[in-house]
Amino acid sequence: MMASRRTVLAALAAGALAGCGRPGALTAGGQAAPAPPPAARIRALRAVPPSAPVLTRAQVVARYGDLRPHSWGFGGPGVVRDLSTTRRVIALTFDACGGRGGSACDQALIGFLRRREVPATLFLNSRWIDANPAVFRQLAGEPLFEIANHGTRHLPLSVTGRSAYGIAGTRNAGEVYDEVARNQAKLTRLLGVPPRFFRPGTAYCDDVAARIVTAMADRLVSFSVNGDGGATFTPGQVRSTVTAAPGGSIVLCHMNHPGSGTAQGIAAAVPRLMAAGYRFVRLSDGLR
Ligand SMILES: [Zn+2]
Repeated sequence: MMASRRTVLAALAAGALAGCGRPGALTAGGQAAPAPPPAARIRALRAVPPSAPVLTRAQVVARYGDLRPHSWGFGGPGVVRDLSTTRRVIALTFDACGGRGGSACDQALIGFLRRREVPATLFLNSRWIDANPAVFRQLAGEPLFEIANHGTRHLPLSVTGRSAYGIAGTRNAGEVYDEVARNQAKLTRLLGVPPRFFRPGTAYCDDVAARIVTAMADRLVSFSVNGDGGATFTPGQVRSTVTAAPGGSIVLCHMNHPGSGTAQGIAAAVPRLMAAGYRFVRLSDGLR
């Protein structure tokens, strides 16, 4: 499914193009995902305390299935948008959205982060992991990087099927559960521990979906600085946008578009920020 050019341009003009919004990466996927594993298995793997039980799909549908949403965007109840500090600390986050046109890996970007020892949080979609098993294993083994959940089919998180950038969102509470839980289970199996953070495909969510994510014991992370405009920015735009990020920012960029301006822009911005006294953290290190 492709967004119209008009839609994309309108989003750019509004400065809102964020998650995997470039025209070449707007495929919502749509392939049938495997059945979710038993909730008991997820609960055991997560080792969550009894006070924070992992909900089953049926429980999510029962509790949230009849609720109507009141908001749509990058925020919502429980949504983390920054590090809640004005200290010179920045969390760089990179999405890997997967799907047609979105399953590459920006090795120049990753190589730069390694050379300069810049910690980062990598939000990986289930389809991207499937397309890059060896790269995934390498990244997952590096303490410099924290792995987070970027959804199963890369869908905007809605309980009414609302769209973002031409991608139809999840249609109900059960599909919200599936979008989060299936990749959560995959990552838990691959990493040995559950990822702590979830960001929807396109980063859009409604308030009911945000509540579901929190009830599933995940933290839904949005962003405060749109660093690469859905991997559409030139290197200069990425450099100027990221360099201007204030302390406490969560910067959203992409690691799945090697031909974009992201790697060059980040490589130009990071030394400037370091020279100004900023340091970089993974989300787990920057959020209480
Ligand atoms: Zn994405």
